[in-house]
Amino acid sequence: MKKRIVLILIGFFGVSSSIQAQASVDIDGRLQPILTEFFEQCKKYDIDYHSKLFQLKNIDIVNHLPLEENNTVLGMVSRDEAGEIDNIFINWAALLDSEILKVVAFHEFAHHFLDYKHSCQDCEEIMAETNVSYFDIARDWDNQVKLLFTTSPICLAQHKGNAIATKI
Ligand SMILES: [Zn+2]
Repeated sequence: MKKRIVLILIGFFGVSSSIQAQASVDIDGRLQPILTEFFEQCKKYDIDYHSKLFQLKNIDIVNHLPLEENNTVLGMVSRDEAGEIDNIFINWAALLDSEILKVVAFHEFAHHFLDYKHSCQDCEEIMAETNVSYFDIARDWDNQVKLLFTTSPICLAQHKGNAIATKI
């Protein structure tokens, strides 16, 4: 009997937190499946994403990012006056290919949810400032995602915390 009450309570909190997320974060439906996949990885690596999700206003596909020969921005995060990320924007042009869209979305999600800065300027990593080839990354996807999560600032900070805790 006691077990059943606990389960019902967990169910209730689950529902109320998802309603809150819908009320405060506007997520473009075309990005939702990729965000869900990203959160699955967060769960796998024990990274809490709920509070960071509520800090956002929009995760959106937009048409105001530059798309010129030497000035193309496929995705970006915007920050509020306090310097906290408040929006994640993906250029509509990334929609032209589902693999590009996924790499760009994971890149921007990692800036916010994994506390990432760019890992390098021109290399074949999801967090490169400029990606050499989106398709090479897509072909090496599982490995790339593993690298993205295991070497993320948030994951490294967590492990450091664990190591200190074990020492004590
Ligand atoms: Zn970036």
